[in-house]
Amino acid sequence: MEAASQTPVPLDFLGGLERTHRCGDLRPGDVGKRVVLMGWVHRRRDLGGLIFIHLRDRSGVSQVVFNQERADVHARAGLLRSEFVIAVEGPLVRRDDDTINPELTTGEVEVAAEKVYILNTSRTPPFLVEEDLSVGEDIRLRHRYIDLRRPHMQRNLILRHKVNFAIRKAMDEQEFYEIETPFMTRSTPEGARDFLVPSRLQLGSFYALPQSPQLFKQLLMIAGYDRYFQIARCFRDEDLRADRQPEFTQLDLEMSFIRESDVFDVIERVMQGAAEAAGHPTPERPFARMTYDEAMERHGSDKPDLRVPAMTRVDDLFPAGELPVPDGMPLMAIRIPSVGTLTRRERDELKPLGSELGLRVFDDMRRLGRDFAEPLRNVYERAGVEDDDLLVLVTIANRPTGPKPQETALKAAGTFRLQVAQKYQDRHGLFDKEDFRFLWVTDFPMFEWDEDEQSWNAAHHPFTSVHDEDLGHLLSEPHRCRSKAYDLVLNGIELGSGSIRIHRRDVQAKVFQALGFTDEQARHRFGFFLEALEYGTPPHGGIALGLDRLVMLLAGETTIRDVIPFPKTAKGTDLMCEAPSTVPGRQLTELGIELRPGIRQMMTGRSGE
Ligand code: ASP
Repeated sequence: MEAASQTPVPLDFLGGLERTHRCGDLRPGDVGKRVVLMGWVHRRRDLGGLIFIHLRDRSGVSQVVFNQERADVHARAGLLRSEFVIAVEGPLVRRDDDTINPELTTGEVEVAAEKVYILNTSRTPPFLVEEDLSVGEDIRLRHRYIDLRRPHMQRNLILRHKVNFAIRKAMDEQEFYEIETPFMTRSTPEGARDFLVPSRLQLGSFYALPQSPQLFKQLLMIAGYDRYFQIARCFRDEDLRADRQPEFTQLDLEMSFIRESDVFDVIERVMQGAAEAAGHPTPERPFARMTYDEAMERHGSDKPDLRVPAMTRVDDLFPAGELPVPDGMPLMAIRIPSVGTLTRRERDELKPLGSELGLRVFDDMRRLGRDFAEPLRNVYERAGVEDDDLLVLVTIANRPTGPKPQETALKAAGTFRLQVAQKYQDRHGLFDKEDFRFLWVTDFPMFEWDEDEQSWNAAHHPFTSVHDEDLGHLLSEPHRCRSKAYDLVLNGIELGSGSIRIHRRDVQAKVFQALGFTDEQARHRFGFFLEALEYGTPPHGGIALGLDRLVMLLAGETTIRDVIPFPKTAKGTDLMCEAPSTVPGRQLTELGIELRPGIRQMMTGRSGE
């Protein structure tokens, strides 16, 4: 607005002018060279006789100085404002010692401008292109192209490129082919809601956007490609709790004639490449492994954060019935290392924290030691407690209802342990965010009980293989069946899941039966795939990793929105281009779609807001 109300600035043409350097690349070694830089006016300081500009491009910032001895150039420089796009030409000079700026990588030099070309003006931006912004995220997202100019965001997206590139390299080195699969397809089996695309040529029919390339990658194995990968966009229409996006990216892969350990091997190499590309130390291989049962028992979670010590079950160390532990429920020792003596206030927080999770917390070891000296000594020994550690014992206050009371109790204890560790990490700097602890969790249960539907669901997806030994009781004891599904976990965050697949049609039929699908239902949803299974399907398996989350962790960010160029809000809105949007009635008519009157009213109400 302001630029418009000022006298218009006459603009220059780029003409044959060629850039010699990027702004962030100038070094003392270049002093004496004649340079041409192009970029955005980051900052301007007008001292009268001298005008200083910080000129910015994706590589960084250089200082440019305009001296009034060159009156015409100096006068043009006087017109410059934030975010104008300019080119400057002149010799690179060394700065006087007392004007060196140690905060800039180019801080020892500056360009003594002899020419300036104003290539474009800019309206006054709604916020400054600064690292530490105090403006709300909505404004940033509305003007994302300005937000993306911030060095911080540029670093993140450049890092994302490097990680993608390293992944492609690692995949290529391991003889994977990158093959694209369709966006306009049928429903895929990940269990979320589909985004639908109406067909104009076949009115009344819809494509679904893929929730994952799952079936296509399995078809590529049937087609004999042996090793496939894709950095694939996936679409899931879920309520966007927490840090989710309706479209997100996965590193998706599939391989034939392999066991689980082959998938682990491939991914571990990919993770090494990705960590190195992001400037982190190479994670050591092989990564830790743990079965689902062990993860539950020792961490109360299927995504253990290995930076926090495991819990230790200790109810057997106390005389039966002497402590208020519900029958058969675990008493867990939780050790948080090196926190030293807690303040009174910190101690007082523990019990309420536990009761919110339905736990009874024993935090006073001195008191417990008076009645149970020997058992407590054994607890210290079994849990490996050292002098500066915090030790608390917890148990579930009341026996949980539901099919897996043990698991419910362990989960509560695990959550408590993480919350306590988190508190003391904040206050005592307990564990290191740079410490990347990868873990494979294996042998997940094959099925999950759905209370509402009163039926079994596939814990991973219905194409996941059951353990060879459990094949016999798929139908008789589904709760006992373990699957060949695995997760990759990093510092308590699930990076992705995969599995060895079912490659035999007869086994697939049994799993569908266990899941309560009739033949008819199975054929309707996945008929083409079931048919393909009958034409020589090799044993195969694969995995998909959330790329947004991986890059977020490698970039040290806390939200995936900061590593996605154009993310959506929690309501699934793109604030910049205002998608989703209404469409002209004609477009709907062409698609054979008519909006219900109630929806029309709702929309009129919304646009009137
Ligand atoms: N398609 C699965 C998912 O998106 C991953 C896999 O099994 O490979 O979670």
